[in-house]
Amino acid sequence: MALLSIVLPSYNEEQNIANTAKVLSEFLEREQIEYELVFISDGSKDRTYEEIVKAREKNPRIKGAAFSRNFGKEAGIFAGLELTTGDAVIVMDCDLQHPPAVIPQMWKLWQEGAQVVEGVKSSRGKESLAHKLSAGLFYKIMSKLIGMDMNASSDFKLLDRQVVDVLLSLPERNTFFRALSFWVGFRTEVVYYEVQERQFGESKWSLFSLMKYAVTNATSFSTMPLQLVTVMGFLSIMFSVVLGIQTFVKYLSGTAVEGFTTVILLLLIIGGCLMISLGIIGHYIARIYEEVKGRPKYIISDVTDNVQGQVLGTWRKGQ
Ligand code: UDP
Ligand code: MG
Repeated sequence: MALLSIVLPSYNEEQNIANTAKVLSEFLEREQIEYELVFISDGSKDRTYEEIVKAREKNPRIKGAAFSRNFGKEAGIFAGLELTTGDAVIVMDCDLQHPPAVIPQMWKLWQEGAQVVEGVKSSRGKESLAHKLSAGLFYKIMSKLIGMDMNASSDFKLLDRQVVDVLLSLPERNTFFRALSFWVGFRTEVVYYEVQERQFGESKWSLFSLMKYAVTNATSFSTMPLQLVTVMGFLSIMFSVVLGIQTFVKYLSGTAVEGFTTVILLLLIIGGCLMISLGIIGHYIARIYEEVKGRPKYIISDVTDNVQGQVLGTWRKGQ
């Protein structure tokens, strides 16, 4: 029988682990789907990993790992993918905001031959206004840059083993899981779901972390901002030609001193363009720098006893 692996990145989710493990395992047993649950504690500062170990003692189909520090949800997802052994893998949040009720639908589509099943939000659920605005802006920018509608897409998706292996073989370190599953292609289907309310704890995204996420992902997935620099350069050159002609005419007509305003304006405009451009280029250099260093996406400090050690590139416990 085919095995379904579920990857659940968890950061400071001690209140959620036991409940999520229970809800998911009961649900999947009822649906008669062979499963394993893979929890990754993303450098949690609370007892998340202890909760994972406890859940594993209760249910041998649960396994997990802990990072040595917080590496971010992307890293959590990829570590989770690496630990899975299933024929299909579902990635979902461990706060049950991604409804388990959709899993059988995804599973069925996979059995019918789909290799990627995207979970698409039919509504965004309850969020604070600031979060809504910043997330809204984030998705608008991302959709433009990547050229696909990111607003409704999420990290909730099912991937066939073949797709998982392709994703794991990608050499890049700055990953953007949500967009990568589009990028790799394969036979894709879509299921719609309503975002549920978070049961315990609160959202782990601050406004700042969301901004950082936006910039990192935009620069790791698109070179458009770099081309923007060229466009801005052209615009400011055109603008200075116009201003230049005006200044020259004024000079000829003998009222040149008034041009002081123009000088200030030009300085500001060109200075602004230069700084923005340098900033954008700086971001790309930072990305290149990170890739070139070739450090692992994450460092695993602990795994539950039922994890096969050899799958872990960075884990050398007891050797
Ligand atoms: N998460 C993670 N590492 C982080 C931040 C979040 O693994 O640095 C996990 C978190 O535990 C949850 C999922 O990512 O399972 C989504 O996070 P959250 O619910 O805080 O985001 P939201 O649902 O508000 O977008
Ligand atoms: Mg959530």
